[in-house]
Amino acid sequence: MTSAASARFLIVGPQGSGKGTQGVLVAEAFGVPQVATGDIFRENVKGGTDLGKKVQEIIEAGHLVPDELTSELVRDRLEQPDAEHGFLLDGYPRNRGQVEHLDAFLEGRGESLDAVIELVVPRDESISRLQQRASEQGRTDDTEDVIANRLAIYERETAPILDVYRERDLVLRIDGVGTLDEVTERIFAALAGRGLVPNGDASVGAA
Ligand code: AMP
Repeated sequence: MTSAASARFLIVGPQGSGKGTQGVLVAEAFGVPQVATGDIFRENVKGGTDLGKKVQEIIEAGHLVPDELTSELVRDRLEQPDAEHGFLLDGYPRNRGQVEHLDAFLEGRGESLDAVIELVVPRDESISRLQQRASEQGRTDDTEDVIANRLAIYERETAPILDVYRERDLVLRIDGVGTLDEVTERIFAALAGRGLVPNGDASVGAA
């Protein structure tokens, strides 16, 4: 039985693609922490920390937090002992500058990514999912204007980073339309196709 010695994953997709939910499932299965920069920023805003005060306006407008600040936050998190054998990053890197920061960090530790999970969801679908989430969760950055801004940033700055990872043959392109379970199965099957299976369970997603 093969099992992944390391599991260093990114999950990339537009807002509303379900990457948060799917990312948690993948991280849990592989026993690695899910690190979602948006969640960390929101917790800091809620807790009124110095970081939270710095980023609150930026997040509410749907702009990107400066790269240096974001990358430092991620480096600190990935240096925690629970991320020693892997992690799943959700929402980072978000642009080419952050890709370079992550590359430098991982190279410095003699590590590399194992896979980049790309969730593909058409624009209309992600907008309607975000509107739904806005009415359910009341996130301050899920208003119509801010949603449009965040999706535009995704298309302009984040989607192009997939080309960088495609050149490294790391990208698993997953159709994100379907039920939660269907999409989860596609992700695990694609990971298994690369020999990436959760510890102790070589059968997950292989069906
Ligand atoms: P998310 O939950 O991933 O959509 O992130 C919510 C907000 O947090 C984003 O709209 C940005 O303002 C900020 N944010 C999250 N991740 C990053 C990142 N990697 N770089 C810059 N800003 C980020």
